[in-house]
Amino acid sequence: MSKIETFGISWRKRIQLTIRSLRLKLGLRPFRFVDRRNGLVVFVPHCALNQNSRVDGTAERRAAVHELIQGLLDRGIGIVQLPCPELLLIGLDRADSPIREILLEAQPQARLCDMACEVANQIQQYRSCGIKVLGILGKNGSPTCGAEQTYENGQIRSGKGLFIEKLHQILETRNMPTNIIGYIDSAPLESLETIDYWLNQQL
Ligand code: SF4
Repeated sequence: MSKIETFGISWRKRIQLTIRSLRLKLGLRPFRFVDRRNGLVVFVPHCALNQNSRVDGTAERRAAVHELIQGLLDRGIGIVQLPCPELLLIGLDRADSPIREILLEAQPQARLCDMACEVANQIQQYRSCGIKVLGILGKNGSPTCGAEQTYENGQIRSGKGLFIEKLHQILETRNMPTNIIGYIDSAPLESLETIDYWLNQQL
């Protein structure tokens, strides 16, 4: 790091940066970041932060599930927004589309696999740098993002949606155990109770 880059940085921080760079060179991980981050993240479905991605007739909120999002921020937890596979693979105007059937076709299956791999890569990257990934939230009742409940043949049934199932399989294959639970828009506080449990496990 040049003198110009270090100008204005306290001696304490310079020493921390030097130690970190030495640890990196020696391959010693995880290291601690020398800034204010809390080192905690949760992955949430895209539509928890952006209801505009929902299929017509299913957005229960104006913009986001704010109790859930606010609850995470209040706990100092970073929020990672998962992709919305239905929006990316089928489109926004999909109310009349057979979502599950389309996503089961070969090309969408390959894309779902790519998306799930990218999420697993992010989790791996966070963990390798000492960031705690508390878990992943799914959207129960979704044919794509459900965690405990999905949608098939016109009804809710128990099981994972196609994207969360793929993600779960990839995490298992890579031996990366990760908490996964589902939430519903009408009961976000129940999910926060589970997140508190995950938090306590980390302390
Ligand atoms: S549940 Fe998943 S697929 Fe459905 S709108 Fe939300 S992010 Fe998109």
